[in-house]
Amino acid sequence: MAKEELECSFCGRKKPETNLLIAGLDAHICDRCIEQAHGIVLEESKQIDGSDLSAELKLRKPQQIKKFLDEYIIGQNATKKVMSVAVYNHYKRLLQPASKDDIEIQKSNIIMVGQTGTGKTLMAKTIARMLNVPLAIVDATVLTEAGYVGEDVESILTRLLQAADYNLEKAEKGIVFIDEIDKIARKSDNPSITRDVSGEGVQQALLKLLEGTVVNVPPKGGRKHPDQKFIEVNTENILFIAGGAFDGIERHISKRLNMQAVGYSASMSDDVVNQEHLLQYIIPKDLKDFGLIPEIIGRLPVLTYMDPLDSDTLRAILTEPKNAIIKQYKKLFEMDQIDFTITDGALGFIVGKAIEYKLGARGLRSLCEEILTDAMFELPSSNDKKLNVTKAYAEDKLTKTTLKKLKAVS
Ligand code: ADP
Repeated sequence: MAKEELECSFCGRKKPETNLLIAGLDAHICDRCIEQAHGIVLEESKQIDGSDLSAELKLRKPQQIKKFLDEYIIGQNATKKVMSVAVYNHYKRLLQPASKDDIEIQKSNIIMVGQTGTGKTLMAKTIARMLNVPLAIVDATVLTEAGYVGEDVESILTRLLQAADYNLEKAEKGIVFIDEIDKIARKSDNPSITRDVSGEGVQQALLKLLEGTVVNVPPKGGRKHPDQKFIEVNTENILFIAGGAFDGIERHISKRLNMQAVGYSASMSDDVVNQEHLLQYIIPKDLKDFGLIPEIIGRLPVLTYMDPLDSDTLRAILTEPKNAIIKQYKKLFEMDQIDFTITDGALGFIVGKAIEYKLGARGLRSLCEEILTDAMFELPSSNDKKLNVTKAYAEDKLTKTTLKKLKAVS
């Protein structure tokens, strides 16, 4: 066949009428038909999306969920386990057929307690990534009661809608991570003396959301405005995960444990209490003593804690997760055909500085950035195709001033 006579086997357009004609075994396809077919593929995959969750859950039992979390998050085994079960149960609840009996599975919203930088946000992000559901991360400190300066509690759902590209169905199955929930605690345990109205008011406003209700959400965010059209969002199937550092909660835990120790001295002396890590003994009552109202605690029934990060964990965070920081640098250098390696001594040095300057896991990245910036600036245009970062190299790049600067911003 002469070249001009070639045509698209799908639409019949002759080669000159197309921008591109691709040959297969005994057929040809033009650019327009490819576009169209691609559209169909996308549409189809969207429809499959709807039943995605049920397929997902068949595939992922709690143990598989934990395995997935293991790929991205180091340690935190207690939380991973609790989280895997809670998430599994939550999505089982979504899939429950209209029940014939009266047993209604209630929501398993989660609250994570642990110092900042221990991976609470990462945990929520990883779960959302696994389930391929939209995730909104909100900071409880910006929320205020309606009528006060700040954001209404409904703005949480605006964020979720945005994360779901305004696909209401998706948003209603999404995850909301409320960070710094401890900051809206009542300042005093005794409501009649120091009543922190705004903090408690926000807690009250959150209650309905957590439990499941239909909320009028301003799609563009901001404060409610009489002229703005609302989207009705049902929060019944939204999984809420709250996180907070709860600084000083150890005091309440320790007080409670000591009181128990007096009452049940025999049983307590058998169990040696690890004073270094009191958070692991946390129970809902401690949250109440800290200043969360009992109704909020009741609506966050799954309580779990994060371990503080020790040097072994920090080191593992640098190198082990699927997208570990060091792996990312390796990839960046590889794009310029540069072979990047780092010695154990250098890794130890970075971890040591992160601990010494209390930079936490978040500081690891800034430390690496400081150490590697010169190399990333110079090597791409040099003939040097090897970079081995040793402890001495790292020490040389990290001066006291840069460390002070890092501490200031952390
Ligand atoms: P939090 O929400 O508790 O303040 P983040 O989840 O924001 O902490 O953690 C900060 C950063 O530290 C994350 O981006 C992540 O890279 C790293 N990180 C913290 N904890 C871990 C962990 N256990 N495993 C892997 N990375 C972690």
